[in-house]
Amino acid sequence: MDNILEVSHISKSFKDHTIIKDLNFTVKEGDFFSILGPSGCGKTTLLRMIAGFLEPTSGKVFIRGEDMAGIPPNKRPVNIVFQSLALFPMMNVKENIAFGLRRRKFKKQEINDKVSSMLERVGLAGYEKKSVTQLSGGQRQRVAIARSLVLEPSILLLDEPLGALDRKLREHMKIELKLLQAEIGTTFIYITHDQSEALVMSNQVAVMNNGNFDQLDIPKNLYKFPSTSFVAGFVGETNKFSITTEAIGGNEIIIKTKNGWRLNKQCNNAESYKYLFIRPESVILKPEKRLQDISRFTIRVKTILFDGSDTKISALVEDTEEIMLISLPQNAQFEDVVVGDEIEAAVHHDDLKCYKE
Ligand code: ATP
Repeated sequence: MDNILEVSHISKSFKDHTIIKDLNFTVKEGDFFSILGPSGCGKTTLLRMIAGFLEPTSGKVFIRGEDMAGIPPNKRPVNIVFQSLALFPMMNVKENIAFGLRRRKFKKQEINDKVSSMLERVGLAGYEKKSVTQLSGGQRQRVAIARSLVLEPSILLLDEPLGALDRKLREHMKIELKLLQAEIGTTFIYITHDQSEALVMSNQVAVMNNGNFDQLDIPKNLYKFPSTSFVAGFVGETNKFSITTEAIGGNEIIIKTKNGWRLNKQCNNAESYKYLFIRPESVILKPEKRLQDISRFTIRVKTILFDGSDTKISALVEDTEEIMLISLPQNAQFEDVVVGDEIEAAVHHDDLKCYKE
């Protein structure tokens, strides 16, 4: 697939405050591409430059190979859906969706056909005459998306569009949006601070930190092979330890955590590291004797956290003050774990993720 968007060496400063720093990336046609990052990292600023509401301080945006410099938002082949949705409350569903088509002077019959087909696609056929004020949050969301998609943009930009919905509806809309995008095939660029939204919906996710991307990858790799400690801490649940390390020959290091836990790890580069991350589900409880390339330790169960589908324990590691969150496998063997139990545990060396900074 060809690149539909190329962002080339883009920077943006407000006065002497640089928000985006020499950012480079491409998006392929048909991608569901998410930009994931904490509040204030520059996501909206980046989106506004792609849409044309802001000019970059330096660098360029190309859409389908065309330089967008100086091209105003309404002349770019993109459309944007905001968190606020910005629907017109005095108009009904059909009028809201038809608004942009009317402004572009489409003929009446063509407008009717396009609106009907779009309503069908977003599952709102028959809602034409309803006032948008009478719709549920999820339905309003779909009207806002339909209103943007009916103009057939090459790229649809979505700025935290599920942010205002309650949790249950957000879960539902995540799946709906993913299905809708797959069906229509328009390239979506979606910004969010919610890692679960980004992982579930996208085929490419860029994790943004301080005005640049730390990692651009498929969701599975972000989770399994985070390239920086920021990504390891931001994407998914994890245990983070401040550590010092010592090389002891061969490719082995000793890791010492701040609170006194010591463990060994085999690694390709026996260098010095500052942080250790361990995913709750990568802790093996009651490891078999024959398992190799693992670090063994004991844990003492402190609390048991049950949240319906999942059970986790928080435990003290060895005789230290180090606390670790561990997912309990859905396995009858662990059903009778109680507070105070001392249990053998281990982590595979590959699952001990060490970072220098
Ligand atoms: P959020 O998720 O909270 O919306 P974000 O990642 O989208 O955050 P931006 O809205 O891009 O972040 O803002 C990044 C930084 O740029 C913030 O510190 C913000 O205060 C600053 N900023 C944004 N627009 C302007 C502006 N017009 N003038 C000055 N500073 C601005």
